[in-house]
Amino acid sequence: MPESVSVPEKLLLDKPHNTQRIITDLQSRGLNLATIEVGSSGRKGGAGPSDHKAVTIGETTVMVPVYTTGAAESPYRVDIDRATGQSYLAKDEQIISSLDFPRQPKFYGLQTAEGIPYSKIALLHSNNVLATTVLQTCIRYENRKTACQFCAIGQSLESDRTIAQKTPAQLAEVAEAAVRLDRVEHMIMTTGTPNTTDRGAAYLADCAQAIKAKVPLPIQAQCEPPNDFRWFERMATAGVDSLGMHLEAADPEVRARIMPGKAKVSVDYYFEAFAAAVKVVGRGQVSTYLLAGLGDSKETLLTTSERLIELGVYPFVVPFVPIVGTPLAQTPPPDSQLMFDLYQQIGQMLKRANLRSSEMKAGCAKCGACSALSIFEE
Ligand code: SF4
Repeated sequence: MPESVSVPEKLLLDKPHNTQRIITDLQSRGLNLATIEVGSSGRKGGAGPSDHKAVTIGETTVMVPVYTTGAAESPYRVDIDRATGQSYLAKDEQIISSLDFPRQPKFYGLQTAEGIPYSKIALLHSNNVLATTVLQTCIRYENRKTACQFCAIGQSLESDRTIAQKTPAQLAEVAEAAVRLDRVEHMIMTTGTPNTTDRGAAYLADCAQAIKAKVPLPIQAQCEPPNDFRWFERMATAGVDSLGMHLEAADPEVRARIMPGKAKVSVDYYFEAFAAAVKVVGRGQVSTYLLAGLGDSKETLLTTSERLIELGVYPFVVPFVPIVGTPLAQTPPPDSQLMFDLYQQIGQMLKRANLRSSEMKAGCAKCGACSALSIFEE
């Protein structure tokens, strides 16, 4: 690595179109960190944006793959100017932008009275989101015949980086500290699917109630659609502000192949649940993940997004990032031109419908760090 970096007068990220292109490409191909270890630790395995690291490029904080097979071959790298200590995003021989890594949050230094580190209870995502998996086990995960092939929910438990169940009191304690010490602005609670017909909604409601009693932090709860849609009202009454129910893929054949257990809950049932949830928490306060690269065609992703937007649901389209140790670990990331086209067209649909990620109270679409979609809404 050179001692000093020659920074061009005009950085490529000065133009909005370049920002869209570069962030889209970087999220598909990953960042080759080689031997550099800086900033807040990334996440290996687990639920959510695993094998990613948060980086701030210009003004935008995004999660980029760093531990995946693809990232080790990515043309994007980090150059550090030894004289100033500033990091830069570089590709081939070109410096693209300044690049910063969010610092390790202060709440990671604390532990509960029983000695559980706060970082085993919840993590900082991006630079202002507190995220947790309230139940780190899933009925579908233990059996490869039912497990989602992209999921690594058991990995962080096996490596002792988290605990199996976070109690409402523990979550409230950590949330209060994360707001006070690290200015966290919203919280996401997801869950492995328990063996109950409410799909975890009751436990998410208990957790939300305890957190809201301690700190006024907007919360998104994420679970599979429950058997009884009255759970949405109960969650909202307990303090849940927005809901996430994640399709992951939309084509029934792709769903059956990639997530044989979860695919038993049909796309139609998800849509019924979306409509019921919008009635409770409001238009634009419900979101779903669509993982581009699992096998859905561009057309399927576009028509599904259109249908979701019509209902008032935000289609959070993200590039699928294969996680080391899962059956899909060797799957190539989606082509960045495909992602760019999806973002452009879905961004236009969102704009026409006046559905904006910035108006969500909490959740992944509000955070936006795992996708470039929000920068295509303007
Ligand atoms: S988009 Fe969701 S999963 Fe990704 S960093 Fe933000 S909160 Fe975490």
